[in-house]
Amino acid sequence: MTILLTNIPGASPRLYHYFPNAYEGVFQLSTINFFMAMLLTFGQGFLMTKSVFKAEKSLKNALSKAEELAELKSQFLSNMSHELRTPMNAVVGISSLLLRENPREDQRKNLEVLRFSSGHLLHIINDILDYSRIEAGGIELEKTPFHLPQLLETLRASLSPLAQEKGIDLLLDVDKSLPDFVRGDSNRLTQILNNLLNNALKFTPNGWVRLQVICVSGDGKSVGVKFIIQDTGIGIDQTKQQLIFERFSQASSETTRKYGGTGLGLAICRKIARLHGSEIELKSEPGKGSQFYFTILYELEPSSNTKPVLPAEGMLSGKKILLAEDNAINQLVARNVLDKWGVELKVVENGREAVEHLEGHRVDLVLMDLQMPEMDGYQASRLIRQMKNGLYATLPIIALTASSQYEVSEQYRRCGMNDFLNKPFNPEELYRKMAGLLIP
Ligand code: ADP
Repeated sequence: MTILLTNIPGASPRLYHYFPNAYEGVFQLSTINFFMAMLLTFGQGFLMTKSVFKAEKSLKNALSKAEELAELKSQFLSNMSHELRTPMNAVVGISSLLLRENPREDQRKNLEVLRFSSGHLLHIINDILDYSRIEAGGIELEKTPFHLPQLLETLRASLSPLAQEKGIDLLLDVDKSLPDFVRGDSNRLTQILNNLLNNALKFTPNGWVRLQVICVSGDGKSVGVKFIIQDTGIGIDQTKQQLIFERFSQASSETTRKYGGTGLGLAICRKIARLHGSEIELKSEPGKGSQFYFTILYELEPSSNTKPVLPAEGMLSGKKILLAEDNAINQLVARNVLDKWGVELKVVENGREAVEHLEGHRVDLVLMDLQMPEMDGYQASRLIRQMKNGLYATLPIIALTASSQYEVSEQYRRCGMNDFLNKPFNPEELYRKMAGLLIP
């Protein structure tokens, strides 16, 4: 009993104070026990501290290993994306070129299959990479001003050939009270709307598809914009309405065979909407149609004096453009597109040649591939910015890259480039970006 009590540090002297008789004879033992207990406690404390330090160290190790692995994964994704997109660029680009050269009827059919399949494969590659990047938390939304009604109109124009092909009416209904310019991520908004509208068109055999955009709130600083994508298509069974937002999920096992697709589109849309603090909701009835909707809060752009998003044709005529690109196929594709706009194009093979060319020639804008032998686009851009007492400090440079968008988005800015575009690029987007940088 005494030994037990005295194992509590400080207990023994206090008990002796209250019960001196009961403790006669055992005082010595208690004192020894008291010191023993103190020793044990300190010993245990020391051991515990040691093991806490040890656990902390191994946690730190595990964390740095996890960070290393995440870095490796992101590096792998970026490399893989580049490796896959470069040949895809060639396949998509060349099949488009061949289709323009008046092929025989039988050749045209094969080429159309080739172009469709390569485009589809590229879409799948992009979706998988995109999903992995979002899941790894590797994307941040941009906050730049954009012209909302023009974005919506461009989207409608780009999808109307598909709607016409299917004999479906594609309707765009934009609330007149919406502001023209808002600040946000126009690419990510386009991605969500594109996906939802493509689905609506895909799953609607007849009738109409409508994109309705409504202003639902506003306080002078920000505006709540509600996007409603409605169709008169096949609809989705109540039991599948949550499932389809999961990755690789489709409403029925027949879907892939009948309509194709990977089941990743809605999962990506949902993740992007959540990055915006929004949730995509769905109302649908089989046989009657579906309605997907979500609301995004955008900051208003106070100085709505940004240039028009879609500049007039011919604006680039006579502009001196330098293209640094090592891949012959990519050069061909770019040349084909740029020639149509009447620009004066000079093509060089790498970053070093680009820098050398700029030393002796005036150039209005540089299109810079990022991965090139001898000197890559990053290094070349850094050198260009330091050239000739700041002569090229403001020269517009657009990065062209087959790497994942999110990998380069930070790096290209740090190297002084103005903008970037993923390859294979959309000619309209390239035109818009070039005109935006060239025309005051
Ligand atoms: P994918 O279209 O590549 O299959 P999504 O994630 O975009 O992948 O869509 C998942 C599934 O949701 C589709 O396969 C389809 O079954 C269903 N779905 C999506 N949108 C619609 C729609 N507008 N009408 C009917 N079903 C739809």
